[in-house]
Amino acid sequence: MPNFRDGFSSNAWSTTIPGVALTLALSACSTTAGTDRDDDRALVLTTFTVIADMAENVAADRVEVASLTRPGAEIHGYEPTPDDLVRGQDADLILENGLGLEAWFQQFTDRVDAPTAVLSEGIETIPVSSGGYEGEPNPHAWMSPDNALVYVDNIRDALTALDPEGEATYTEAAEAYKEEISEVGSYLETELSGVPESSRALVTCEGAFSYLARDAGLTERYLWPVNAEREGTPQQIAAVSEFVRDNDVPTVFCESTVNDSAQRSVIRETGAAMGGTLYVDSLSEADGPVPTYLDLLRHDAEAIVAGLTDRGETP
Ligand SMILES: [Zn+2]
Repeated sequence: MPNFRDGFSSNAWSTTIPGVALTLALSACSTTAGTDRDDDRALVLTTFTVIADMAENVAADRVEVASLTRPGAEIHGYEPTPDDLVRGQDADLILENGLGLEAWFQQFTDRVDAPTAVLSEGIETIPVSSGGYEGEPNPHAWMSPDNALVYVDNIRDALTALDPEGEATYTEAAEAYKEEISEVGSYLETELSGVPESSRALVTCEGAFSYLARDAGLTERYLWPVNAEREGTPQQIAAVSEFVRDNDVPTVFCESTVNDSAQRSVIRETGAAMGGTLYVDSLSEADGPVPTYLDLLRHDAEAIVAGLTDRGETP
């Protein structure tokens, strides 16, 4: 496959007149051999579906946005396929979360010339407190609407650097989207503030809710901090069961992309109920329950409120 990137590295962008650079990028896309892309727009590739949806809201159709991982994928230990690497070569810009989420992503940055923007840059991180990841930042920063506003600003800046002529469009779209995110953030805090004080504990499989719990004033407990090979050990199950019993936690939860058998063990040991599935690391397919990031936040808020206020009810 011919390397259309020859002589057109990401470094060249910053030294080329922006409008010319974009024209080159567009023509490079449309003449790429070896893939079936027939879109003339620049390609913005994201590492997972949640940030792809955010980027689409800011891009306003000026660029094509695609996620490397598919809906429902396990994104922490993802194994890129040869096809992924080919798609990566088409990218004009790559958006990643950062905070150690995409350890598998190094394979792309080694091979692809496109610039990469790290969307969590500027976030006040929360360190992981257990499970062998102590002190490392929890990567799930997008689960806080406040943080999401920073993501959107970073997306706007990255798109503007790629396509300066679109600056006004990106700025306007970003502001409108940030208003929507803020509305969902207010809804979330209002809803979750209705959870009785005695039930304000969010027990999940993965520790993906540290940021949301911080925003909503919930105490967070989880079986394992970040999806990895050793999930749901007897020690993890025992520790969470003890917390659930001691605090009379009515409902525990598990995320859509992981096996919930360890949480089922907690339920057997404690008599807690299983709440609705929570979505964190991936959106659903378009016809599923959470096709967008805003749907994901709303869905999780409703599931948490229902689980913690109406014992035994599973939405
Ligand atoms: Zn995760």
